[in-house]
Amino acid sequence: MRPSQRALLISAACTSFALTAALQTTAVAADEDARSVQVVMVNFTDSSFTDPAKSRSDLEQSYFGETDSLTSYYNEITKGAATFESGAGEGGVYGPVDIPVAAGCDTNKIYNETLKEMEKQGLGWDDFAHLSLAFPGDKAGCGFGGLGSVGGGITWLPVGGDGGGVDQTVLVHEFGHNFGYPHQPRISCPGTDLADCQESEGANSRKTPMGGGTRSVGLTAPELLHSSWLSDKEAVKVKKSATYTLNSLYGARDEIRALDIPVGEDRLVVEYRQASGTLDKHLQGVHAYRIPGGNYAGAEMIDMTPEADHSFDSGEPDADALAAGVTLTGKAHKVAVEVVNSEGASATVAVSLNGVPAPAAAGVASEQQAEPQSEKTKPAGSGMEDGSGAADDSGLAETGADSGVSTPLVAGGAALVVLGGAFVVKSRRKRVPSATHRAR
Ligand SMILES: [Zn+2]
Repeated sequence: MRPSQRALLISAACTSFALTAALQTTAVAADEDARSVQVVMVNFTDSSFTDPAKSRSDLEQSYFGETDSLTSYYNEITKGAATFESGAGEGGVYGPVDIPVAAGCDTNKIYNETLKEMEKQGLGWDDFAHLSLAFPGDKAGCGFGGLGSVGGGITWLPVGGDGGGVDQTVLVHEFGHNFGYPHQPRISCPGTDLADCQESEGANSRKTPMGGGTRSVGLTAPELLHSSWLSDKEAVKVKKSATYTLNSLYGARDEIRALDIPVGEDRLVVEYRQASGTLDKHLQGVHAYRIPGGNYAGAEMIDMTPEADHSFDSGEPDADALAAGVTLTGKAHKVAVEVVNSEGASATVAVSLNGVPAPAAAGVASEQQAEPQSEKTKPAGSGMEDGSGAADDSGLAETGADSGVSTPLVAGGAALVVLGGAFVVKSRRKRVPSATHRAR
């Protein structure tokens, strides 16, 4: 139930490597809703923040500002399912802390020495869930825009020594790693069946900051599922053939926002994206994700039109969406997903399981979104939905595989850390080979 190994290749930027030595032993609990974020300014022996007050103020905005901040992003993403609070220090930004280390990018050393200083001052992992280390980046000259432990709580951000805060895409991306998300790829599926899908090396989903999207897009439904940020009502576990009204992923709460469909050992998650709030201005349409082994974090976006222009900015917003009339099948498991309609505030999606045709979406009309259409055509009482969520029959590795969110980090003294964000900040950088994902 591990994320697919190749998920870590993001164009021109994010790479990963294994850190040895004792890293942090505290990881973020999956069910921990209030998250304390401790930002620390770190001075090297030979490179310091030149205007600490300005840097503090800019960092405070980057992390905790009302708008355009890390917390405003995740508050909007989670719709209140998770909350964030600032840690110690003026404006929630601690330091600067002086560490006995020359400017450089030995992230392990930066972390260890900073924590040691903080512990001397009475602060430790009991006090926060995320520790974000901001240090002057110019002299350090790191080849990354940001770094985050996967499923852990540490981020490293080289920033301007004279202020400027942190690039927002980098920041939400690195915290995404903390939440346990690797990079999200797209797979090329030029046919109509899942068996036709092929890996497409280096191709990003572009539907999430974890897949080459900027912070202008939200997370994908599988990522929200991984973090338990969708309720059972919002993410319907489909258990029999039915036709659904699927609402915009970042539309109203308590409507159906994602369909979670069993396909043998895997799952298929379907979402409908469109502009909503500050998110998804470039997205329009129904998207489907293959979930290998039921591990939502390892989601792969299914691209049925790999020849289309998928450029994030210039391509048609729905060029890689599943168009109305398209049916995606998993013939080996007798699954079919048809997009009946994908315009306006909601899409209509018919799901067929075990070869049983989905009941037609008679009277798709409205107000009943919280229930699958088929329920109206059946005698009462099947209680099929509202997903009390028990894993049905097939022993799917569903959410259980996920709750190990916190584990990938510290095992056998090796920890995975992922560099990120450089695709925005340093997009000219050459691609660095990806190391294997040392989860566990
Ligand atoms: Zn990354």
